[in-house]
Amino acid sequence: MLIGIPRESKAGETLVAATAKTASQLAQLGYDVVVETGAGEAADQLDSAYADAGVRVGSSDDVWAADIVIKVNAPTDEEVGRLLSGATIVSMMAPARSPELVQRLSEAGVTALAMDAVPRISRAQSMDVLSSMANVAGYRAVVEAAHEFGRMFTGQVTAAGKIPPARVFVVGAGVAGLAAIGAASAMGAIVRAFDVRPEVAEQVESMGADFVVVDMEQEVSSDGYAKEMTAEQEAATAAMYDEEARNADIVITTALIPGRPAPKLITEETIRGMRGGSVIVDMAAANGGNAALTETDQRIVTDNGVTILGYTDLAGRLAAQTSQLYGTNIVNLFKLLTPEKDGRLTLDMNDVVQRGITVAHGGESMWPPPAVQVS
Ligand code: NAD
Repeated sequence: MLIGIPRESKAGETLVAATAKTASQLAQLGYDVVVETGAGEAADQLDSAYADAGVRVGSSDDVWAADIVIKVNAPTDEEVGRLLSGATIVSMMAPARSPELVQRLSEAGVTALAMDAVPRISRAQSMDVLSSMANVAGYRAVVEAAHEFGRMFTGQVTAAGKIPPARVFVVGAGVAGLAAIGAASAMGAIVRAFDVRPEVAEQVESMGADFVVVDMEQEVSSDGYAKEMTAEQEAATAAMYDEEARNADIVITTALIPGRPAPKLITEETIRGMRGGSVIVDMAAANGGNAALTETDQRIVTDNGVTILGYTDLAGRLAAQTSQLYGTNIVNLFKLLTPEKDGRLTLDMNDVVQRGITVAHGGESMWPPPAVQVS
């Protein structure tokens, strides 16, 4: 079967779905692979690199006439229209938030596989593009913050005087938050972090940060589950955010709740109380932001000199490595889909990973898949 790798049509996109290395790995699974001219340019993957790896470089029409098209971003309506009937499209699709796309893909009679719907089970970790991107983005958030901050992160005692270390506060200790903690600690900052899931405290500490504990009695109901926060508990949490942010030079927020807008955690009053020169990197900007004044994809500076970055392309700012990780996640999926290494894609709907990512198949919508037990 022929796999086509198109140039991404989204404005400003730097990523490509296959690097020269991962495209040749797909070829090793028995597929013919064609990459669109210039597709990898912004990720340092020149046409000559694909050609050197034995991968064909072709036109947009060549790519869209393939049996399987692999992308980074969800296909546009026009792109869905270019797919052959019965073709397979693989990309991120945010299917839970894109019912119209799911319907369009179903009506087009294509098989649509959403890379951002890989179940979060141990066996599927090697295909988890959301983790790959969050990991790179968390690191890059620290780099952006360091650049804006304009002072060293590490503390020093020199003959010319003492330099205090930067103080970094990370909100949310999932994949992105832990990567940010690791990067900031490695640069010598004093890092503190909070997450609503107390079980991540150990991971936070192993990455070199202090886990912030909110001083309150956690009520437990008779069935053992935590009760909803009382007004008093909510006030204690809000006071913690206020105090931690005011004491920090850098605040990196990553708090997300699946399928919901990002929780607003850093209030305008808190931002107005932060020191001039402080930096907030709001990694939840694409979902509305965790900080009150964040503007999506913008850098703003408040009257009191706090810089707030709402960039949503942090992973794309390290395009070569992110494309390599995304491409490797794709290769790992294709190893699963090509058990005979014969260049023929087979889809097993009894497998939770394959069923979990199938959004459309045989003219039918397959979304949402049955719930999976998370391990
Ligand atoms: P995410 O991006 O959805 O959320 C980021 C973090 O924000 C989470 O840790 C969440 O608890 C936290 N958060 C939400 N509301 C908050 C609030 N009000 N205040 C503070 N923090 C808040 O999460 P993620 O990074 O995608 O991962 C979440 C979990 O899934 C992690 O435990 C991770 O290890 C796990 N995971 C498992 C796999 C796998 O097994 N294949 C893959 C990826 C992630």
